[in-house]
This record gives sequence, C-alpha cells and structure tokens, in this order.
Amino acid sequence: MKDRIRKVVVVGGGTAGWMSAALIKRVLGGAVEVELVESESIGIVGVGEATIPPIQHVNAVLGLDEAEFLRETKSTVKLAIRFENWRVQGEQYYHTFGAPGKSQAFCHFHHFWTRAQSGGFKTDLWDYDLNYLCCEENKFVKLQAQDKMWDMPYAYHFDASLYGVFLRKYSEKRGVKRTEGLIEDVNINAESGHVESLVLQGGGLVEGDLFIDCSGIRGLLIHQKLNTGYDDWGHWLPCDRAMAVPSERFDETLPFTRSIAHSAGWQWRIPLQHRNGNGLVYSSRHYSDDQAADILLNNLESKALADPKIIPFRTGRTRRQWNRNVIAVGLSSGFLEPLESTSIYLIQSAIVRLLHLFPLAGVTPELTGEYNRQSKREYELIRDFIILHYYLNERDDSQFWRDTRNMDVPERLTNKIALFRSNGTLVQDHLDIFLEPSWLQVMLGQGVMPQDYHPIANQLSDEQLQEKLVKTMQLKKEPLPKIPGHDQFLEMFCKQD
Ligand SMILES: Cc1cc2nc3c(=O)[nH]c(=O)nc-3n(C[C@H](O)[C@H](O)[C@H](O)COP(=O)(O)OP(=O)(O)OC[C@H]3O[C@@H](n4cnc5c(N)ncnc54)[C@H](O)[C@@H]3O)c2cc1C
Repeated sequence: MKDRIRKVVVVGGGTAGWMSAALIKRVLGGAVEVELVESESIGIVGVGEATIPPIQHVNAVLGLDEAEFLRETKSTVKLAIRFENWRVQGEQYYHTFGAPGKSQAFCHFHHFWTRAQSGGFKTDLWDYDLNYLCCEENKFVKLQAQDKMWDMPYAYHFDASLYGVFLRKYSEKRGVKRTEGLIEDVNINAESGHVESLVLQGGGLVEGDLFIDCSGIRGLLIHQKLNTGYDDWGHWLPCDRAMAVPSERFDETLPFTRSIAHSAGWQWRIPLQHRNGNGLVYSSRHYSDDQAADILLNNLESKALADPKIIPFRTGRTRRQWNRNVIAVGLSSGFLEPLESTSIYLIQSAIVRLLHLFPLAGVTPELTGEYNRQSKREYELIRDFIILHYYLNERDDSQFWRDTRNMDVPERLTNKIALFRSNGTLVQDHLDIFLEPSWLQVMLGQGVMPQDYHPIANQLSDEQLQEKLVKTMQLKKEPLPKIPGHDQFLEMFCKQD
C-alpha cells in the first residue's frame, strides 16, 4: 500500500516511546502529526540506566542543555564498564570508551605495545588510556583538547523514569499529543493488512498512518497482532531473567558501570546522583528466583530502597522489525542483555534509520527491506560482541561457565577471535557500533594475547619503541592532576546560576 504518511502513532511511553516521539517531532517538525498512547496502569519497565557515547548525538539533535539534562535525570558520567570476575574470579578489566595510545595510519597503537611486550618491555595497555586513568582515580572533566591523544568519550548513567519524564516534557512542548489509555484492540485493514487504529478501553479510537510499536516486551502490534516471527538466541546467551533493585548511594559516585560475574550470571551496579541502580542477570536453569535474590541483596553494599523486581526476557530479535506499517522500537524489537548497555542505543539507531528511510510518500517493500537488513546486521554484531565476553571465559567454578566456553559461536565471531589471536588484527564491520578499541579491550581482558603484530611496528628500533611508549604514557597522564573528582565535576557543572 502506498499512502502518504500524515500521522505517526507511537504506542507506549517508556524510553523507546518518548525517544521516538521526541526525535521524530524534532526532525520532521510539521511534516507529520505525532500522537503517543500510553497506559499508566501498565507502566514502564523502569530499568535501562546505562548508556554509550552515541547518546550525545541524540542530545545534540534534540538541542538539549547538558547541565539541565544531568540535573533533571540525576545523571552521572560513564567512562567505562569494569568487568569483574569475567575471565577468572578475582580479576578485572575495563572496557572504556577511550582508546589506548594514539593510532597512526594503518597501525593501531596496540601493535607497538605487543611488540614491546614480546621484547620484554612490559606495561599495562590500559595505562595508555585516559578514560581508564580517570576511572582509577574517580575523576572527570569535559576536556576541550584538539589532540586525539586526550579524547575522553563519555556517556551517562541516568534514572530511567526521570529520563522518560524529561523527554515527555520536551516532546509535549513541541507538539506531540499524549493520550492516556489502555489499548484493548488493534484494527487492521482487511485489504492491505496494515494497522489502521488502536481501540482504547472505554471505546476511544486512535487512528494513524504509521505505527511505532514501543509497547515493550509484549510487542502489542508487532507480535500480538501481526505475529511477526522471533529469532531466539538463548543457545548463545543463556541468561533469561533479571532482577533489579535500587539502593542507597555511596559517598562517592564512580564514573563507570560495574559488571560483576557470579556463578551463573552477572550483577550490574550503576551509580546515579541520588541512588545506585543494581540488578542481577541470570539463567533460570541455574538459579531459582530466591537464590538470585540472595545473591543480589547480599552484594549491594548499601541499603535496598525497594523490593527486587523480576523481569523475564527472551534473548533475540524480532525477525522483521518493520512489518507492514508497524516499526518495532525498544523491547518490542528484541532484547540483548544489558552487558554492554546497548538497548537504548538500539532505540536511537532504529529511529535514526527510520528517519533516514522515512516513508513520507508511503510504505514500500524497498524501504522496509533495507530497514530490516540493516537492523538485522546491527543486532547480530552486538550479539556477537556480547557472546565474546562469555565465550572467552576461563572460569572453572560452575557448569554455566564451562558450557558458555565450550559452545559453538557464530562463525564471524570465531574468525574475529582467530585473526586477533594470530597477529592482533581487528576487523571493523559496517554497522558495528563497537569500534576496534572495544574489541581490543574485551579480547585482551578476556585473555587473548596476539601472537604477533603488524610489521609496521618493526620500523622503530628497540630504543625508539621504548621511547614512544614512555612518551605516550607521559602525555596521557599529563592532564590528570588538573582533572577534578567526578562528584566535584557534577556539583560544579550542574549548579544552577
Ligand atoms: C533488566 C534490564 C536492564 C536493562 N539495562 C539497560 C541498560 O543499562 N542500558 C540500556 O541501554 N538498556 C537497558 N535495558 C533496556 C531498556 O530498559 C529498554 O530498552 C528501555 O527501557 C525501553 O523500553 P521500552 O520503552 O521498549 O518498554 P517499556 O518501558 O516496557 O514501555 C512500554 C510502554 O508501553 C505501554 N503499553 C504496553 N501495553 C500497553 C497497552 N495495552 N495499552 C497502552 N499502553 C501500553 C506501557 O504503558 C509503557 O509506556 C535493560 C532492560 C532490562 C530488562
């Protein structure tokens, strides 16, 4: 069917719903009408508090004032994730948003480092990464340096409910219509199979031309009405449940997320200005909910502020995330456990993709086909990156870790690991949000050491190589004494005049 799109209906008012409404309205302005329907009686999932740096693009497009954003959403800064007990118990490594050293054409810094290691000049690669250095000293400031040497990419931890409130205020101010109501039925056009309208409890009708299904895990339109298939990836990522609980804040807020592996899952700790967000992601085949609650509550280190909330999930993706005139965004489009904080990014990316391919003149198979191809690839690349953390473990304390170590993984991932192991080569796939430094840190952190390095690293003499490394570390550390503590930064930056 090829009908001009005049009205977009967003189904659901969680992070996905309000991000979609805000971005569509901001970018398309008066070209389309936007109405969002949500039900307070159902509420939102209420988790999803750690982000990755591309969130900055959303804020920039929306034209947000960063200080106001931090204040209103009780945000803290996120420079990294610290993985604890992932390779073996008692060990930790960081996946920072930065990069070690400074790369030169054709040859990443880690090749020089690898050569130096093999020649006996042993240093820690992370000591060449400013994000890491700031994490270790609990520091942060927005650096204005031109030189890539001092790039310090960052994201945020925010309160998911406050983020929704913030985006709602933003969207309503710009003309998004919000309708409170419980959707009881969905009307389909008998001829085209397209969704025509939503039927609300009490009989109200919300009509539209294009529907963004942001109704959460249930997938009210995409699954319950259109029966779009689902690719289940549970055989690669066996965790299928989460338990979340807020707790009192600590005296100091860290500028990174903690991810602490347990015997059959892992626990997150997300520092916010007013509290900590905590949760356990686990496999229900290995832990009962009571066991999970014990593990979570015994590892909080500050007082719980509510009862734990259980969230079952199914890892995988909706097969056609754009089906007819319905686009699934957020949890309705699939779910990958929050190990690398990618779900909010996937919301952003879905909306950006939709805006790029927006069917103003009507939905066509070419547009839906392209959208679905890109979405599939993007989901699969993130999936592989998450599998990497499990697959490369060397823990021997439980069947869970032995099983994930011995599973067959997607071929693309096997090849990436083999390439890196052989000579440190990293492959940048199109549409992979995780760039080479991310793959590098997780592979090294999980214990894969390259057996060789790029020949360009041989162009330096031993003395020149050592000098390069010493100088790089000195330069990286240069700004540290002037960088304030993370809490000090938040206090100064968020202060209202
Ligand atoms: C345990 C866990 C931890 C996570 N951690 C992270 C993280 O750290 N970082 C990250 O990026 N992502 C994370 N995520 C993902 C993140 O929470 C979601 O991507 C995000 O919250 C978006 O959710 P949503 O808007 O799709 O769904 P929801 O928040 O569930 O919203 C669904 C909306 O649909 C409405 N609705 C549903 N049915 C009806 C109906 N019949 N009538 C009317 N309205 C209806 C509801 O009222 C609600 O407004 C996590 C997810 C889980 C499960």
